[in-house]
Amino acid sequence: MKDFAVVGSGIGGSSIAALLSAKGFDVALFEKDSHLGGCSSSFFHKGYMYNTGATTLAGYEEGFIVKEVFDAIGFTPKVIPTDPSIVVIQEGKITPRFRDFELFYESVQENYPHAKNRKFWEMVFEINREFYKYSGHYYANANIFSKIKSLLSFLPLFMRFQKYFRVNAFTFMDDFYGGIALEYFEFLESQILIVAQAPSKDINFFTAALALGYTFNKNHYALGGFSQVFEDMTKHIKDVYKKTEIIKILQQKDHFELHTHQEIFRAKKVILNATVYESGKLFSDEQIQNYYKKYEKLDNHQSSFMLYMTIKSSKKFHSHYQIIEKEPFAHALSRALFVSFSDASDTKIAPEGHYSITASVHTDSRFWQNPLSYQRQKKELHDTLQSLILSKLQIDEDEVVASFSATSKTFKHYINRTQLGGNAITIKNFLPFLPGNDTPIKNLYNVGDTVYAAQGWPGVMLGVKNLQRLLHV
Ligand SMILES: Cc1cc2nc3c(=O)[nH]c(=O)nc-3n(C[C@H](O)[C@H](O)[C@H](O)COP(=O)(O)OP(=O)(O)OC[C@H]3O[C@@H](n4cnc5c(N)ncnc54)[C@H](O)[C@@H]3O)c2cc1C
Repeated sequence: MKDFAVVGSGIGGSSIAALLSAKGFDVALFEKDSHLGGCSSSFFHKGYMYNTGATTLAGYEEGFIVKEVFDAIGFTPKVIPTDPSIVVIQEGKITPRFRDFELFYESVQENYPHAKNRKFWEMVFEINREFYKYSGHYYANANIFSKIKSLLSFLPLFMRFQKYFRVNAFTFMDDFYGGIALEYFEFLESQILIVAQAPSKDINFFTAALALGYTFNKNHYALGGFSQVFEDMTKHIKDVYKKTEIIKILQQKDHFELHTHQEIFRAKKVILNATVYESGKLFSDEQIQNYYKKYEKLDNHQSSFMLYMTIKSSKKFHSHYQIIEKEPFAHALSRALFVSFSDASDTKIAPEGHYSITASVHTDSRFWQNPLSYQRQKKELHDTLQSLILSKLQIDEDEVVASFSATSKTFKHYINRTQLGGNAITIKNFLPFLPGNDTPIKNLYNVGDTVYAAQGWPGVMLGVKNLQRLLHV
């Protein structure tokens, strides 16, 4: 019998499994797909490699959560820093998001001049610098007492930043600037959306400032494709089962039984890295089903449309671009396309002289349900995005060696989820309503971007740290 069974090898599942294993627990990690990493993995297609979704490793620096958890595991990822973290392209304006404040300020002031820009971005910078100093807060959800106690742990943070919690981020920014020009608003909104996964009208300014300011922190590129990070991180776990889907979990008196198509495994404690919207389906126990059912309504159906390309080119590219168009793309929710290039030195992900490209735009999983229009829509959006990338980044058509796309249906097939982007922290969906890492069911836990704390490397890792605390290990 295992001490822990971890179902899913995304950021949350792999990190907590590696952490528990490093602490001497007997852990089994189960992954449905052939690659580890979930939304943050990589894969092969017709001989070329691509990052699946995530392309940026944020929060890996001294004093930040990702480094803290990696250090506790005893693991150093093979990464290189990226600066600028993104280059934003909007209507002929090119704004590199440099880590250095003055360098960034110069370009934002040149492209979107405003007397209040310095004050605004200094405030964003300061909120980011200060936030990471606050530790000691945690989130427990198992019962009302633990919930209240954990909410109290956030008091110092709420007190320090209270003025940013009062109104929604759009109102805050509009008041701050005394009216905000549409083009500059789209510049801010697109960057908020990729990190906070919600528009500025739905979130407070504190969350928006963390989203706008992550580029002032160190960001990294993972060498050899993102799955390599997961392979390296989990290499000391004795039992890592790939291509092994858990299809049913039965709660017994003092343990859980985890069923695959072939076998039954036993573990004293279970940590689920599947989305909180899907987890209920694994159980037949009514209490557990009901627990997960109440979170199904949080599923906002937000998803991603992906364009993957390999190009052969001698040109130099930045790691990440955000291309903002005037109108939203058809079959998508956004007018902004996020485009990531492999590093020219990384010949594991793309052969020498080639680049592997992962591009994504927000969509709604319900746009992809009609089998009659599916292929047509997919081709339309694929062609639109590809020609946009080629024209904005001066890539010739004959430099394209491979090109294909993926929808929420593809994600469902490989990693069991259509909702991508996690459970966004919005004004309506804030503490204490977020699903937690603990549950009212003894020895059953959750980790990942649909439960505390948020999406992305730093957000999921805050949840891993929180879970470590709740497990008292
Ligand atoms: C297009 C896109 C771009 C992104 N870009 C970035 C970025 O640049 N930087 C960043 O920090 N974040 C980024 N994110 C967000 C980030 O990738 C996710 O928030 C994060 O990877 C989610 O991790 P998770 O722990 O929730 O696990 P998930 O990624 O959801 O993985 C869960 C895993 O569990 C497995 N699983 C599920 N059910 C079962 C089962 N029953 N049995 C076995 N296995 C199962 C799945 O196959 C999957 O591998 C991006 C997300 C997307 C979609």
